[in-house]
Amino acid sequence: MSAEPPVRIFLSPPHVTGTELARLREALDSNWVAPLGPHVDAFEHEFAEVLGGGRALALSSGTAALHLALLEAGVGPGDRVFVSDLTFAASVFPIRYVAAEPVFVDSDRSSWNMDPQLLVDGLDAAARTGRMPKAVVLVHLLGQPADVDPILAACAHHGVAVIEDAAEALGARYRGQAPGTFGQSSIFSFNGNKIITTSGGGMLVSRDEALIEHARKLSTQARDPAPHYEHSEIGYNYRMSNLLAGVGRAQLDTLDTRVAARRANFVQYEGLLAGCPGLDFMPEPEWSYSTRWLTCLTLDEDTFGADREAVRQALAMEGIQARPVWKPMHLQPVFEGCERLGGAVSADLFERGLCLPSGSTLTTAEIEEIAAIVKGVPGSGMSASG
Ligand SMILES: *Cc1c(COP(=O)(O)O)cnc(C)c1O
Repeated sequence: MSAEPPVRIFLSPPHVTGTELARLREALDSNWVAPLGPHVDAFEHEFAEVLGGGRALALSSGTAALHLALLEAGVGPGDRVFVSDLTFAASVFPIRYVAAEPVFVDSDRSSWNMDPQLLVDGLDAAARTGRMPKAVVLVHLLGQPADVDPILAACAHHGVAVIEDAAEALGARYRGQAPGTFGQSSIFSFNGNKIITTSGGGMLVSRDEALIEHARKLSTQARDPAPHYEHSEIGYNYRMSNLLAGVGRAQLDTLDTRVAARRANFVQYEGLLAGCPGLDFMPEPEWSYSTRWLTCLTLDEDTFGADREAVRQALAMEGIQARPVWKPMHLQPVFEGCERLGGAVSADLFERGLCLPSGSTLTTAEIEEIAAIVKGVPGSGMSASG
């Protein structure tokens, strides 16, 4: 097979609005070139408003936000933390930063997110053996909220903190309410591939003002109130730069149109491909309003006539970037030997799942081209590679 050409259509590229420069200039003109400042304060307020309340803390990444969320939940060495199995590794790495033990919980097929029944059974079993987890990290994957209600109820019953990883779900709704407003705390990401971006950045949010204020202290090297530098705890350097917060404010203004564009991508893909046998789109349960951050589908090789890799490679040969769905955590070498509850569903979604280009800059002509390539794969010879 010949070498792949350079990427022409990216999976989820940044989408510059045009107002970023004015915000950056404000910061530079006022000399607020620091990891705090008026843009950081305003970004936090505006972000909390978009979520419908609570407090927000702007940080250097979503990963840093999750690290602080775990510390605020009191998670420490040897503690167990239940976490979604089908996710990006950054949902789990911070669990190891605090020397705790992840326990991976499989997905359900209706949402691709944490299976509520598995979690309920897992918590009941943990209660019987006296091995309760200290927290549950609940991921809202690919822009789709997890089934929050039963998970929240079970965690409340057992007194376990819920931390939401809403990195991919800004702008989504669960029964009309924003993901990231249900748990003890929640995290968001503004990495370059997310629905809005600051190039790199994150947010910790919570309705618990004391939690946010303490996390704020930890994020700025844990200075105690004193005129000199006094420290009684270990701190971190996790704050967001005032320059990047200016970019974030410009991006946040466009959130609704970004979500609408990604949902429109999905609708167009579905219209063009829905008739293909063996091809199924990621479902959207009736309680979900997904951002469709990425348009994802699964392929059944026998009925479709080609496997996921054949389709991905056919797209790559045309300079089109598609990706397999996240490889589950229980299959990652770095987490070998960790406990898990189930894992067959997430493994299957990984095996057969494909994420199509889904940026908010994607054109209808590009989607038509992509759909035509997908449709053309079965029997084209590509299918022999599986
Ligand atoms: C992007 C992402 C993160 C990490 O956010 P960063 O800002 O890149 O550190 C965590 N969890 C999920 C599900 C993500 O997609």
